[in-house]
Amino acid sequence: MLSRLNDRQREAVEYVGGPLLVLAGAGSGKTSVITTKIAYLIKEKGIKANKIAAVTFTNKASREMKERVGKLVQGKEARGLTVSTFHNLGLTIIRREHKTLGYKAGFSLFDDQDTKSLIKDLMHKDFQTDAEIIGLVQHMISNWKNDLIEPEQAMGLAQDDRETLAAAVYREYDRHLQAYNAVDFDDLIRLPVRLFRDHPDVLDRWQNRMHYMLVDEYQDTNVSQYLLVKLLIGYRGALTVVGDDDQSIYAWRGARPENLIKLGEDFKNLKIVKLEQNYRSTSLILRCANTLIANNPHVYEKTLWSNMGSGSPIRVISCRNEDAEAERVVTEILTHRIKNDGHYKDFAILYRGNHQARLLEIKLQAYQVPYKISGGTSFFSRHEIKDIMGYLRLLVNPEDDNAFLRVINMPRREIGPSTLERLGTYANSRHISLFNACDELGLEQYLSGKALEKLGRFNHWLQQTIKRCAQDDPIAAIRQMIQDIDYEAWLHQNSSSPQVAERRMANVWILVDSLRDTLARMQEEDDEATIEDAISRLVLRDMLEQQEKEDDSDRVQLMTLHSAKGLEYPHVYIIGMEEDLLPHRNSIDEGNIEEERRLAYVGITRARETLTLSFASQRKQFGEMLNCTPSRFLEELPEGDLAWEGKENAPDEAKRARGHAALDALKKRLGG
Ligand code: ATP
Ligand code: MG
Repeated sequence: MLSRLNDRQREAVEYVGGPLLVLAGAGSGKTSVITTKIAYLIKEKGIKANKIAAVTFTNKASREMKERVGKLVQGKEARGLTVSTFHNLGLTIIRREHKTLGYKAGFSLFDDQDTKSLIKDLMHKDFQTDAEIIGLVQHMISNWKNDLIEPEQAMGLAQDDRETLAAAVYREYDRHLQAYNAVDFDDLIRLPVRLFRDHPDVLDRWQNRMHYMLVDEYQDTNVSQYLLVKLLIGYRGALTVVGDDDQSIYAWRGARPENLIKLGEDFKNLKIVKLEQNYRSTSLILRCANTLIANNPHVYEKTLWSNMGSGSPIRVISCRNEDAEAERVVTEILTHRIKNDGHYKDFAILYRGNHQARLLEIKLQAYQVPYKISGGTSFFSRHEIKDIMGYLRLLVNPEDDNAFLRVINMPRREIGPSTLERLGTYANSRHISLFNACDELGLEQYLSGKALEKLGRFNHWLQQTIKRCAQDDPIAAIRQMIQDIDYEAWLHQNSSSPQVAERRMANVWILVDSLRDTLARMQEEDDEATIEDAISRLVLRDMLEQQEKEDDSDRVQLMTLHSAKGLEYPHVYIIGMEEDLLPHRNSIDEGNIEEERRLAYVGITRARETLTLSFASQRKQFGEMLNCTPSRFLEELPEGDLAWEGKENAPDEAKRARGHAALDALKKRLGG
């Protein structure tokens, strides 16, 4: 188990005398230290698997980690081991302790869309609100929550009108969530922290469950996540965290790379181990990465070397436009794969924003190259899945007004907007949910007989279904519910062809099956797990994953630079190496180039054997062709290690393009 490790790695694995920080650059085996250490703790230190928790950020990363641990410990020995994302751990805690937190069982989880629409409703009364303002307020609320700032404090801290407004919405938003018996994404960490702070007895119980914690990608923890870890670890200090400050790319979501320094302040006996050998990339790729990141200021100096051979130069491809770029990358992968007799899954195409995947998809399909997009249009964002999830959420929590509104006319029940508005007014005046308002006598003053009857019928039917779920086989009850609403007929009326309708219906049954499997798995771990818990878990998966079930079939991998963190591929393409894309326009405006540089660093260090960077000279934006400038990051790479393709004097080309772009900008400013 330990023989494969180098001395420093072994030191990190074997050290259990106190808190440990492994600080090291990309590909140096940080995650390997975590997975090996889990096995070491179980096999050599006799710590029970159910007393160990390893946490990381994305579902993809946690799946990877599970897989890697699975190779070292199996069967009984691994039973009860927690390898999960921060948010899943939070959900488990809330699920077990909901009573103490003042939530009813089967609370619901608000996803991004739910949050937006609630904020919109709350703001709507006083302001003309557009999507951008709503997004901004949502972002501010999220940051407050991640910093553990309560609404009242936010009020006190507000500096200007905008912040005062956001703080006021925050207060309302929080109250509404409580009333709906719902939590949002950020609450999954914030509530456990609050719980542990307010209830030492509960904390004590959880500390007894956690004899050792390990955290991957520590540089991306935010204030609340760090506190959660600190609380769970307690006086024991049985903690290993690994991280790389150069890979901190989630500051916009409240991540605090300073947490790396804070760790040393909070734990006086913190031991630091640095790893310096990279086992992933050729030395040319590594030199590129090192040279680029040297442009950022550093708290901790790191040197990273590799003996994987120098490898081939980093190729830079300049393309006419975005279409040519997509075509170029796809045809290259095709020929490369054939020449080297390789696999599609060895290739990853990375980009800054999800929208960049669209053209690639079209080309990949045209050339019949199998591919998989992570984080793009997900199974869960399909209409039919959203509809049925709406019903499921309502089953779990009939007070969930968002879900109520999503499903009330799906399929059509001919309950018009004016009826709903009156229902809403009544519900607001009585401080009850839309669902509960449906069968209250007082509603008669607001609505006509016909409308009342329809609402009453819906309310009654849902209550019956909820009862059936609790009494009989819940999965059968859910199947019945889908029959009851005649969803299949609705799909046929609303799809472009019978085949499409059938495919969509098949998706619905996949969802139900996946709910059944989730429930079975949860009951294996915990006898008391209910259908409500399983639905909450599904909703969470939807939120975190936003993608189809992982499989290891042979497909080219497409993903954003953000979601590529922690992963590795033999051949990596980073497309759109242009100013305004990478670095992103917003970051340029905010002067936040360093985070963009780290993002580029993360991308480059995913590559094992070859790295190709591409940019387009022209790109369409808002229906208009714009000239693009090659990214400044290209210039920061060691020129001698790059093979600029197609151009004799590539940097000149870059300068020329910059001239074009400057002209464009000038024209725009002059309004021409
Ligand atoms: P990142 O910063 O990107 O998350 P990391 O530091 O977590 O990277 P790992 O993913 O653990 O690095 O390791 C990178 C690669 O090096 C993996 O393929 C891993 O199997 C391999 N590796 C790690 N340690 C060793 C070792 N001692 N000998 C051989 N290969 C190793
Ligand atoms: Mg890692």
